[in-house]
Amino acid sequence: MKIVRSKYLPPSRRHAAINLFGIFFVHPNVHVNERLINHERIHTAQMRELLYIPFYLIYLIEWLLRLVMKDNAYLSIGFEREAYRHEDDPSYLEHRKHYAWVKYLRKKNKRQRKRKRKRKNRD
Ligand SMILES: [Zn+2]
Repeated sequence: MKIVRSKYLPPSRRHAAINLFGIFFVHPNVHVNERLINHERIHTAQMRELLYIPFYLIYLIEWLLRLVMKDNAYLSIGFEREAYRHEDDPSYLEHRKHYAWVKYLRKKNKRQRKRKRKRKNRD
């Protein structure tokens, strides 16, 4: 995976990194660890199976829908839920099934509810 350090990407300081067509952009001061790389590799696998552009379209549409649903839009996106769920498993991509993200479109699992609770308590 190609990693590019950039002051401008991602455009928001709220996010440490962005994956554009398999190229991983991170702010200069962000520590890139194995978990973050694995998270982005999962996104690259999602992009490849959707031939890239549809990935971004689905991502944007789902994010907009989740905004309306007054949920944490970013963390509720199916692509993100799959990536967060498996970012700690370095072998995940070796046994991942194609379109695995589809099952994360449905209701939240226990781990994500716990993560949301943690984030709420932190704020
Ligand atoms: Zn992500």
